Amino acid sequence: MIYLDHNATTPTDPRVVEAMLPYFADSFGNPSSAHSAGCAAAGAVDKARGQVAALIGADPREVVWTSGATEANNLAIKGVADHYQDKGRHIVTAMHEHRAVIDPCRRLAERGYDVTWLRPAEGSGGRVTADQVAAAIRDDTILVSVMWANNEVGTINDVPGIGAVCHERGVLFHTDATQAVGKLPIDVNTAQVDLLSASAHKLYGPKGVGCLYVRRKGPRARLTPLFDGGGHERTMRSGTTNVPGVVGFGVATELAMRSMDEDTARIGAMRDRFESTLRDRLDGVQVNGDVSHRLFNTSHVAFAGVDATRLLRSLPDLAASTGSACSSATLEPSYVLRHLGLSPELAAGAVRFSLGRATTAQEVDDACRMIADGVNAQRAEGAAQPGDTDAADACATA
Ligand code: PMP
Repeated sequence: MIYLDHNATTPTDPRVVEAMLPYFADSFGNPSSAHSAGCAAAGAVDKARGQVAALIGADPREVVWTSGATEANNLAIKGVADHYQDKGRHIVTAMHEHRAVIDPCRRLAERGYDVTWLRPAEGSGGRVTADQVAAAIRDDTILVSVMWANNEVGTINDVPGIGAVCHERGVLFHTDATQAVGKLPIDVNTAQVDLLSASAHKLYGPKGVGCLYVRRKGPRARLTPLFDGGGHERTMRSGTTNVPGVVGFGVATELAMRSMDEDTARIGAMRDRFESTLRDRLDGVQVNGDVSHRLFNTSHVAFAGVDATRLLRSLPDLAASTGSACSSATLEPSYVLRHLGLSPELAAGAVRFSLGRATTAQEVDDACRMIADGVNAQRAEGAAQPGDTDAADACATA
């Protein structure tokens, strides 16, 4: 199988697995315990905190472990909203954020908060600008949440520009950096980010572990926790730490730091080869997103006259994704593509290909051949009806 779905998840690096193994049955202590078994685990957790902090330019005390980016986003958004509710009840975010940002904001809107949903400008490829954010901030704004890079089309937002605007106006800035951490150089201080969400399984670490960066000074970001309990993570996230998970996350960040330059050059070149080969082989190919501000591994392509779900179903040896179609229990056309201004017909023919460290040039060439054959076969059969595949089929292939 050719796996081109690294934005969905990545294989855990064998070096990460190896580093995690001792913390299941040998060094299995609870890091909160005072005895030597606990201290050994606490030492490993501290080391991991330092590794993760180093990747984003943070102080280790600013890293709060979570079960992943969904929890980190919920903690950031609901935690700030609760804590600062007497200061204001207005939040700024964008319509094409991940559901793990949109849904907490919607929940807050149900509770009486006012949410401004920024819409990407036409032709912007989904890039949110600092000017849009500046125009949306009001006296009662307590939080801006704009993702670092979009999971579907790979567009990279002007995070430092948005951070500067937020700090100038005295508003906390959260960024869902799940797709950026490990791929792009990140410095929370240079970018003036106050809260940042990350997830280990997007950077060759294990699933079910992530973190929220919470700024300690200049300004200090305060949160009301989601969980009440033992007061772990400086009271911000109660619950016994997932020691093997955070150890794996730590090693994964260290590996990412070491290979970032090489990954960027090598995988980026393969992504470009993928797109130019597809264009050589096929007409009616549109690359989506902001191609001049885009994750190096992501290629989001719309094939005119094609139903993407049918296409992927006809290619069982290729793993790619039809965008956010299966990100929730209910199948819906990708709202991200809708907000980017794609017609329903083009959106129905759009596929996200995301390359990774193990992707080879041979795989890229083979994938292009398979895709071209599949597209041509479908076009020969006649025009596709957008959405003519049922939900069960779609999710089986995504
Ligand atoms: N935000 C973005 C941008 C993502 O791509 C994802 C993963 N699809 C998430 C949040 C959720 O991450 P997790 O799986 O760690 O909950």
